[in-house]
Amino acid sequence: MNNESEIIKTIDLSASEHQDQQRVNKLSGLEWFFYHHQNKLRWLHLMMFVLFLILLFVPLFLSEPNEQATPLNNFTVFSNYLMWGLWFPLVFLSVIFTGRSWCGLLCPMGAASEWANQRGLQKKIPAFIRWEGMPIVSFLIITFLGQTVGVRDHPEALAEVFGGIMLLAIIVGYIWGSKNRVWCRHFCPIGLLLGLFSRLSIIQFISKKPKAGGDKYAEDGFCPTMIDLRQKRESRHCIECFRCVNPKAKSSVTVKLRALGQEVEQIKTHNPGSAEIWFFLLGTGAALGGFLWLTLPQYNEMRQAIGEWFVLNGWYWIGDTGPWWLMSNHPERREVFNWLDFFSIISFMTIITLLFTVILSSINAVTTYLTIKLGSQDHFKQSFKELAYQYMPVAMVSLLLGLGGKLFEWFSILGISENGIIIIKLSLFILSILWCLRLGWQILANQKLDTMARILPSISGLIGSLFVGLCWWPAIFGL
Ligand code: SF4
Ligand code: SF4
Repeated sequence: MNNESEIIKTIDLSASEHQDQQRVNKLSGLEWFFYHHQNKLRWLHLMMFVLFLILLFVPLFLSEPNEQATPLNNFTVFSNYLMWGLWFPLVFLSVIFTGRSWCGLLCPMGAASEWANQRGLQKKIPAFIRWEGMPIVSFLIITFLGQTVGVRDHPEALAEVFGGIMLLAIIVGYIWGSKNRVWCRHFCPIGLLLGLFSRLSIIQFISKKPKAGGDKYAEDGFCPTMIDLRQKRESRHCIECFRCVNPKAKSSVTVKLRALGQEVEQIKTHNPGSAEIWFFLLGTGAALGGFLWLTLPQYNEMRQAIGEWFVLNGWYWIGDTGPWWLMSNHPERREVFNWLDFFSIISFMTIITLLFTVILSSINAVTTYLTIKLGSQDHFKQSFKELAYQYMPVAMVSLLLGLGGKLFEWFSILGISENGIIIIKLSLFILSILWCLRLGWQILANQKLDTMARILPSISGLIGSLFVGLCWWPAIFGL
């Protein structure tokens, strides 16, 4: 019997080894493909650049779509659906399967920034740009501005926000850095978001001859996002440009498959970062605020109170309209914001951002406290950072369902009923919470907690995940 099970085990093992080999072969095929066609990527970037300009700017010259217009018969509506109903959710989802492939292979903004860099001043990158909080600031500014100008509803706002990002990417690329992408590493609000969630991805780029010592910043190196290739352990800054991949070289970088979420489960050895956690908390809170002001009645109550206070003090300018680039001003669509709307949206979003950050941090602090009491050898700060990564799946699904809500309008067009869509959303939600639980469990195991000791911190972690999910509930499923 023993012999038989040994034989079965051996057959199973060799079958799985064979499958692994096939997978590796497939990825080495990918390596060879990009090794041979690397120089053609610039044509793809050029094509994407032109497409990007068409989608953003052509609607500005077209007449107003009527109420019955659909993506199939009106270009302005089509462009909006393409950006929010396909581009955003698909790029976001693709991170799970292909990491930041959007950045390295397709994004016209990063490519334009690098193009400008090759022709630019190539100044040394100053310390204020290398400050890790810089992309957090840019993410918050873009998220707040996106709400006050109505980026999801108005083609002018879409052109302003994405055209503005493109322009800034080119200016930054023109001034700073030498043969690299300072914008992508230090400023881009989209890149930071994709980078964070690329840690969950099943793809990794790692050195064939890794060197000990952990991740390092290498401004004069070969990588456009300044990664020290031999010490690379984390995925977040890798834009998957394939430039460091050479299947012929013994010491280049290689592309491999890994289990879903593996990097987060083993976050201890993959450079967990305080700035990344701050971004996760503040960024998720800000995105949540961007939805809740549209949904919760408390927003209108707060707006009323602010308005009355200004009028009582004789500051009637609060009712005036501000500049078009700061707030929505579209009488033709019956939407004109005044300073009262502007301040109310900013204040409400700030309150939600801070509340979300404080509550989730507090839950995570309790989880960390329990973890240390039950035997973790980590310092509080280190353990806190590692445990905060467990909430990523539910935050990701929430952002996807919230920001990518238009994707589900395609589902309706394809004939899926309202109930069917709710079931799909709920299933994604439940799966994401179960995934958070698993991540938390593994992070605790890597903090050397035995099975029994992991139960209590896991329950606390589950409360954190449920909190994230419930915060998004009104934005996704309605009140
Ligand atoms: S980091 Fe931003 S600009 Fe750079 S490639 Fe990615 S999305 Fe594009
Ligand atoms: S690590 Fe390699 S693939 Fe990733 S961004 Fe750097 S050069 Fe490109």
